[in-house]
Amino acid sequence: MTKGLSRSRLIKRASPIAGFVALASLIGLAGYAFNEAATARLLEAEARIDAKGWSEGLSHSIPDLSDIIAGMPPSSSTYKSLELVRRAGQVSAFRVYDARGQLRLMSDGRTARQGTRQLIEVVDPAFARALREEREDTRIRRGEDSRIQATAIVPVVGDEGIIGWIVADIDQAKRQALFSSMASQASAAIGFFLISACVLGFWYRNRERAIVEQKLEWLAQRDQLTGLINRSALLKLAERKISDAGQKLPKSALIICDVAPLTGMDSMLGDEARDQVAVATAQRLTSFANGRFEVARIGRLTFALWVDQATDPAEVLSLAKELTARLGEPTNLGDTICTLQATAGIALSSCDGDTPADLMRSAEIALHTAQEQGAPGYGFFNPEIAKDMRRQAAVQRAVAAAAANHDFHLNYQPVYNIRTGELNGFEALIRMDDPELGLVSPAEFIPVAEQMGLINGIGANCLEQACRTAATWPQHLVVAVNLSPSQFLSGSLINDVRNALEKARLPAYRLEVEITEGTLLNDSELVLGQLRMLRDMGVAVSLDDFGTGYSSLGYLWKFPFSKLKIDRSFVQALDETQTARSILRSIIKLGHGLGLTVTAEGIETQKQYTALRDLGCDLAQGYLLDRPASETDLAGIIMRNFAKGLTRRSRSTPAAGRSAA
Ligand code: C2E
Ligand code: MG
Ligand code: MG
Repeated sequence: MTKGLSRSRLIKRASPIAGFVALASLIGLAGYAFNEAATARLLEAEARIDAKGWSEGLSHSIPDLSDIIAGMPPSSSTYKSLELVRRAGQVSAFRVYDARGQLRLMSDGRTARQGTRQLIEVVDPAFARALREEREDTRIRRGEDSRIQATAIVPVVGDEGIIGWIVADIDQAKRQALFSSMASQASAAIGFFLISACVLGFWYRNRERAIVEQKLEWLAQRDQLTGLINRSALLKLAERKISDAGQKLPKSALIICDVAPLTGMDSMLGDEARDQVAVATAQRLTSFANGRFEVARIGRLTFALWVDQATDPAEVLSLAKELTARLGEPTNLGDTICTLQATAGIALSSCDGDTPADLMRSAEIALHTAQEQGAPGYGFFNPEIAKDMRRQAAVQRAVAAAAANHDFHLNYQPVYNIRTGELNGFEALIRMDDPELGLVSPAEFIPVAEQMGLINGIGANCLEQACRTAATWPQHLVVAVNLSPSQFLSGSLINDVRNALEKARLPAYRLEVEITEGTLLNDSELVLGQLRMLRDMGVAVSLDDFGTGYSSLGYLWKFPFSKLKIDRSFVQALDETQTARSILRSIIKLGHGLGLTVTAEGIETQKQYTALRDLGCDLAQGYLLDRPASETDLAGIIMRNFAKGLTRRSRSTPAAGRSAA
């Protein structure tokens, strides 16, 4: 991680440098090219002017020029003036021709008399052309050493027109050197300026960036409202302490505390007031800590205290006690005084976590436990509770995944007529097989699905599946489906039942729904209305697990039940006490008195079976008879019971299923 970071930082730092070098090189190259081109242009222009000016000046300053053109040798004074004029004008060489192009004089003083035509073609091809076209001209040449030389071809005009020509070569060497050095100096100055600007800009940008980065880092570590460090900063700080100490985790404690306005006030407090509470709590905590502990804000009204040198748990506990008392003091919020309730959870590095993050989790669990337990409002982390919470979280994940993928399936447990041993029907029991947790009991995951608000969808699916399967059985067999209390609150239950029956084309009399007393506690009027609707549709309603809840007789006559299912705890008790037998007798009598069919569930022994049959129970369900079976095994069970039922009836013996046979 650190490696990665420093590498990316290096890349970040290196890229502007590379960019800067590239830019400087580009500027250098462009400057050089510009310098060369500009110098050449300037020299060319200057040479043109010079050559032309010199030639024209010559025709005026040499009085016997027309005589020379006419073929007379120049006088010695003319020679001297020619040399002077040549030197003054940077002229490296010149030639004087007559009007027909015959060479009359060369700069070294020679005069040519013959072979001039050829000479012109060889020495002055430009002049040859100018002569043909009868026009003056200026030519620029670049020598092999890239020196710029200009040749001016200027006519000497007499009274009758052109009487001769002067061809002058102007050497630009000195000027070229001068221009080049001036241009180089200018480029160097510009380059220096540009590079300085770049360097300055780069330095300034880096400095600004460093300041912004510092600010961002500070902000990332701080809670904006209270100025306290935040969760990640606290964890980093703890990590630093560990690495400084050079050991696993020095004896430290983490106290997480939470303040909440007292019940009733909670709903009255708006966002602004909550912020005020947070600020006030942060101030109290800071003054309480007084530099002894690190204080952080890790949630809306949740704070953390990192305590170093926490060797004595009793001391930490009394610190938490003091802390909750201090934070629980009434707080002034403008006009109102807000009474707060503070709770704290403690985790100790010696036993509750190997890393600061583990410790944080443990302290949060401890806080949660303290909140659930109420008084005294603070306490240590309890690993057992943490285990339960972890399991709960895993079950939540499993339920969410199974609900999303429709991964729940049903098993069916046969229910028999206790006297005849005939198969009466099946109870549909939901199953969840999670890849991580394995088979999870519905007694565990159904409440979780209820809490997560997923039970309605799951319940509707169970109804559909169970009805579809029951439609494949012989007409006299019924299917019982368990319903959760929340399904009655959803408002969609009646529709779900109707839908399931219609889709499967199952007559309503073949469906039973099982509810527990807990369902009746919720909102009896709401439940009662739906139970009546179900009964009116022809669906039977069973009261499941009878005897475990309040078992109020009021439920039995007020609600339209058709069946009572005695909880298996009474059946199990049959093996142990005589009283159980008396209670069971009373329950069965009561059920019959109300016109209900009575089922005993959880029958595991032949003794229990015989006793219940003798007590007049109607239906039997339990491992003794059959365990819940998968959908694919049902055809076999139905066939087997059909055949065995005939045999049993002829022998008039009890027992029904596989185990009892
Ligand atoms: P329940 O409705 O009372 O179902 C009977 C439970 O007793 C079933 O457990 C069954 O497997 C078990 N059982 C049957 N015979 C015996 C026996 O002889 N000995 C023992 N020890 N147990 C026996 P299961 O399948 O684990 O279901 C537990 C509970 O989960 C059910 O109790 C029911 O309240 C709930 N449940 C099951 N399926 C659904 C469902 O589809 N929807 C809802 N809402 N709840 C369901
Ligand atoms: Mg049941
Ligand atoms: Mg039951």
